[in-house]
Amino acid sequence: MAGQKYSIAQLAVVLRLPAITADGNVDTLLTDSRKLNNPAASLFFALPGPQRDGQAFIPELYKKDVRYFVVPEDMDTSGYPDAVFLKVPEPLHALQTIAAFHRHQFSIDTIGITGSNGKTVVKEWLYQLLQSYRNIVRSPKSYNSQLGVPLSIWQIAAENDLAIFEAGISKPGEMVRLQRLIDPTIGVLTNIGSAHSEGFVSDEEKLSEKLDLFSHAKVIIANRDNKLIASGIKKTGVPFFSWGTDESASVQVVEINTGNDATIISLKEKEGAPFEITIPFTDNASVENAITCATVLLYMKFDREMIVRGMKALQPVNMRMEFKQGINNCTIINDSYSADLTSLDIALQFLGQQAKGRKQTVILSDFFENGINDQQLYPAIYALLKRYGVQRLIGIGEKMQTVLAVLIRQTDAIDATFYLTTKEFLQHYHSTQYRDEYILVKGARRFGFERIVTLLEQKVHETVLEINLDAVAHNLKAFQQQLRPGVKLMAMVKAFAYGSGAAEIASVVQFHKADYLGVAYADEGVELRKAGITIPIMVLNVEASAFDAITDYNLEPDIFSFELLNSFEQHIKNAGLKNYPVHIEVETGMNRSGFAMEAIVVLADRLARNEFIRVQSCFSHLAASEDRVEDTFTLHQFTLLKKAAATLEQIIGYSFIKHIANTSAILRFPELQLDMVRLGIGLYGIGSTPAVSLQTVATLKTTISQIKRIQKGETVSYNRRGIAKEDSVIATIRIGYADGYNRRLGNGTGKVFVNGQLAPVMGTVCMDMTMIDITHIPEVREGDDAIVFGAAVTVQQLAEWVGTIPYEIMTGISQRVKRVYYGEG
Ligand SMILES: *Cc1c(COP(=O)(O)O)cnc(C)c1O
Repeated sequence: MAGQKYSIAQLAVVLRLPAITADGNVDTLLTDSRKLNNPAASLFFALPGPQRDGQAFIPELYKKDVRYFVVPEDMDTSGYPDAVFLKVPEPLHALQTIAAFHRHQFSIDTIGITGSNGKTVVKEWLYQLLQSYRNIVRSPKSYNSQLGVPLSIWQIAAENDLAIFEAGISKPGEMVRLQRLIDPTIGVLTNIGSAHSEGFVSDEEKLSEKLDLFSHAKVIIANRDNKLIASGIKKTGVPFFSWGTDESASVQVVEINTGNDATIISLKEKEGAPFEITIPFTDNASVENAITCATVLLYMKFDREMIVRGMKALQPVNMRMEFKQGINNCTIINDSYSADLTSLDIALQFLGQQAKGRKQTVILSDFFENGINDQQLYPAIYALLKRYGVQRLIGIGEKMQTVLAVLIRQTDAIDATFYLTTKEFLQHYHSTQYRDEYILVKGARRFGFERIVTLLEQKVHETVLEINLDAVAHNLKAFQQQLRPGVKLMAMVKAFAYGSGAAEIASVVQFHKADYLGVAYADEGVELRKAGITIPIMVLNVEASAFDAITDYNLEPDIFSFELLNSFEQHIKNAGLKNYPVHIEVETGMNRSGFAMEAIVVLADRLARNEFIRVQSCFSHLAASEDRVEDTFTLHQFTLLKKAAATLEQIIGYSFIKHIANTSAILRFPELQLDMVRLGIGLYGIGSTPAVSLQTVATLKTTISQIKRIQKGETVSYNRRGIAKEDSVIATIRIGYADGYNRRLGNGTGKVFVNGQLAPVMGTVCMDMTMIDITHIPEVREGDDAIVFGAAVTVQQLAEWVGTIPYEIMTGISQRVKRVYYGEG
């Protein structure tokens, strides 16, 4: 994120450090080493992370020419002769201090938004409403934390005349700091709910903490119908510009009329006639957020006509970036809702992260950013495309064709094509022009790029498994936080990552610094390597036919028998390799695979001074770690593994990684962590405990293909098993046992979630279709979604209905079900 430049010497002064003589400039504040793209002018903050401390990345960054670092006082900084180290008690506080300094270089109208829900939507909607009138800087995505806020603030530039930042807190004391950073002139409180209530004694405390954000504001805008909020705001002494149903509100909500796809809201200011706004949404949260936005605009004295026009055109806020399988092995990233520099930066980062070195194509429309002229805007777009190494650009629009086209030089590695309109692009479109590439489609709304996305997407069956990659990252971090410092983590991505898509999940866990991946077969490992995964991969089931693949793709086999050891060693010799890393599996009670305890000494003798094979780790697998009744057995397995590993280490004379814990062992027995843990099902969101709260990763969704009314006594599906007990309404959904929807779910055993309610399966499950009873669920239409599992109906619940375990349900979703991935990136 680029901001105004300061010299490093000036920043030392800002941090109240002794004067330094270095003379370089800083324009990027870097907190994540992976996001390095401007080494010469980056200042890196070594912040503590869930797994590794930021200090661990300094050698790598130094090698890449980063020279400015903010580090804890006690860090040994010898060995970096050309670097400048600013040593501070707390690098995070230093980041905040620098951001606060930057903030106060500008006296700019600043809207600060907090509340339990809706912060990001209100921020983005205010941006949509105001972008043609003001030059706005705003928080990227939902950057609202102690770390995200300073990074947002750093973006403020001289041309901005309005800032919109959100602030979120999770414990007492945090808001005061965010107040100093944001220093809002207009305070917006969206609402107050039970979300994020951890760490607060009461709702009053939570509210009063949130209101700390507004201690220096000129006004607070909020809903006065909530008594707690109204009295809390009164206590602050800051003027209250309120909305609510009561006449005393500054903006009175006279009436709300919800239609099929829009809501009409009638508003009235204290003196003035009522007027109506229409929003293209019908849910309560959107109505509340829209009223909040309208109130802000009225406070800012925008005229009603502008408000009415803007509200009608509000777009859904999709902070998540979606990517889908496209034609000819392409991957399509659909961001066809917005075109501005902040979101382009985020989208290009996401593209690079997914493409990992493969070809990147960007289809981009003209931008409409108010307050930046074309002579500033298009060079900035060009710089971003170059910085992220985009190879191919398709520019659509007049400005693309004139201004941007001129900037792209012969020497650039960008292959560029331009079209005046989307229509012209579509006329020239041919599917063979796109192959094996990652394509970002990003354009302003008026260009209608969804038509391009439709063309590029692969057409499939309308049952999809949606995978939330942010939830995967969340779950990984939740487990990383359970580990003692230094304990490594192997993410098990066998069986297509428990059905979720191996390469996509592996990319996320690699990005978030897992140490190892575990797969069942060599082929799975090969796929991961082809997808650009570079971290070590252990293969559980190895056979001689896979040895070439193992060594060609740098995979590490599980060695579980002498026979396998002998043949693999021979392969390594023949291949002219040495010290090849392998993992020794010990049999401790699962009786599946592994060396017997009695064989360990002989094995150790075989491995001592062996120049071909090197023991990378020694492990065993627990048979019943989730089962309280078997805890003694589990601990016995643990003891055996430790013993085997100690014998091996002693005889072969070097140490290696030892591991035994799977998901439930990580959660239930911290002492079983050893040097590494193997995380499987927990990564996919199964196994929450009060201490570790996991997020749902997968949602299996299908749609209703037909609805019919039947009379009492009629029957449904094969063998006439489903008999209507009353006149009924039946919906047919596009999923059957060939998709992995188990036949045991038939005849009322299973239920799917339709329009907010559970609908029981009626009759037997067919191969490709299933019928459900929706008699008592109002307003269901053909084409509506039916959720088979997800947050509302959990995989565990479905497994219980079937009489199996979540593992079987997840890995049983067939490959014809399209996987759709999304995340904030
Ligand atoms: C599948 C597997 C795991 C992961 O188990 P979860 O219970 O899903 O965490 C760990 N180790 C081995 C050897 C496995 O096969």
